[in-house]
Amino acid sequence: MEKHMTSGIEDVWQPVPASRSARNTINPIRRIVDRMKITPNPAKEMISLSIGDPTHYGNMLPPVEALEAIIEAVQLPTCHGYAPSFGTLEARRAVAKFWSRSDYILKPEDVILTSGCSHALEMCIDCLADPGDNILLPQPGFSLYTTLCQSLGIETRFYDLLPDDDWKVNITHLESLINDRTRAVLINNPSNPCGAVYPEEHLRKLIEICEKHHLPIIADEIYADMVFSNHKFYFMGILSENVPVLSCGGLSKRFICPGWRVGWIVIHDRHNLFKDTIKPGLADLSSRILGPNSVTQAALTHILFETPDSYYEDILNQLQNNAEYVYRSLLEAPGLQPTMPQGAMYMLIRINPSEFRDIADDKDFFMKLICEESISCLPASVFGIDNFFRIVLSTPMEKTEEACQRIIEFCQRHAKSVS
Ligand SMILES: *Cc1c(COP(=O)(O)O)cnc(C)c1O
Repeated sequence: MEKHMTSGIEDVWQPVPASRSARNTINPIRRIVDRMKITPNPAKEMISLSIGDPTHYGNMLPPVEALEAIIEAVQLPTCHGYAPSFGTLEARRAVAKFWSRSDYILKPEDVILTSGCSHALEMCIDCLADPGDNILLPQPGFSLYTTLCQSLGIETRFYDLLPDDDWKVNITHLESLINDRTRAVLINNPSNPCGAVYPEEHLRKLIEICEKHHLPIIADEIYADMVFSNHKFYFMGILSENVPVLSCGGLSKRFICPGWRVGWIVIHDRHNLFKDTIKPGLADLSSRILGPNSVTQAALTHILFETPDSYYEDILNQLQNNAEYVYRSLLEAPGLQPTMPQGAMYMLIRINPSEFRDIADDKDFFMKLICEESISCLPASVFGIDNFFRIVLSTPMEKTEEACQRIIEFCQRHAKSVS
């Protein structure tokens, strides 16, 4: 009986098609990585150096003060309901105060709260460009930018980052991509996957190009202040006198709580170029999801202001120690050339296929490394550059040590023998 009814319905109904927007929403990581069907070596414990979630191994956790703030917030009778879709005044005030400098004061009106930095990026892209327009994106770059643009029908144009110049932007190349449909330049600093932290001078040059062509900047600054010793982070929006900047950030990485889903857009607009257009546009777009998590918003002031500096220094130390360890170890591996990151949570390592007997490219390296050593990294072709791979630096040190050992042995095994 049941079977009969089902087939009856199938006769009448066609499969329900997915929309163009859904079909155009493509995650290149899933597309490239999941298509390679690979089985790890059963004799070796799997070590993932590919998951960009710092909570994955449990060695990095949110600050205790943040946990307390969430517990306190959830017990308040006032934080269970809807907040204004662009965020509560108190939470926006906290973000504005957190990023203000003595000589550069931000106001709550300059802040829109979002459901994580990824939502902030989506809103900025959606607000600045129409289908058929284009946005300039870094290559290699965080793959979400492409995913968002493509699903919105916005053309992606990629400017090169220079591996031999600390992954700085090839500014001549960037400028050559600009045309009359270009609506914004997206800059990610400190960067994923490169781990680059741009010096002030370089950021000023980028601002200059954007000023010349009247292009606003979307600054993905989710790793703001996450820099290693001897490097300094500069906010695009503070450096920029004349170019309006939408700075996207959030709690996820700095406070090690990507699941809490609160991020923000800080609007830097000294000449009110966004006042009657982009600012209300972003507020309108925020109403689509009725605003971000209200418990996290209620805890935000505490999280931002009660977390001691020592928490943060400890996280940065762990990341830097890890980076230094991986850098030093992998210098020993034939065929590999690590680049020392300056901040964020990642390192890119160059693969020289010509030094190997039987490794064709980064995807081949990735597959064989899983099959033989049960270590997963990310082939950087998912970020738009070939023959590099990315590892995350938030892994516990003992796993990092074991992983480096296995990678070295793997490279030795596949290296061309020196005659
Ligand atoms: C992790 C990450 C994000 C997304 O952050 P959420 O706040 O979790 O949405 C955005 N940009 C970059 C470069 C990232 O690495």
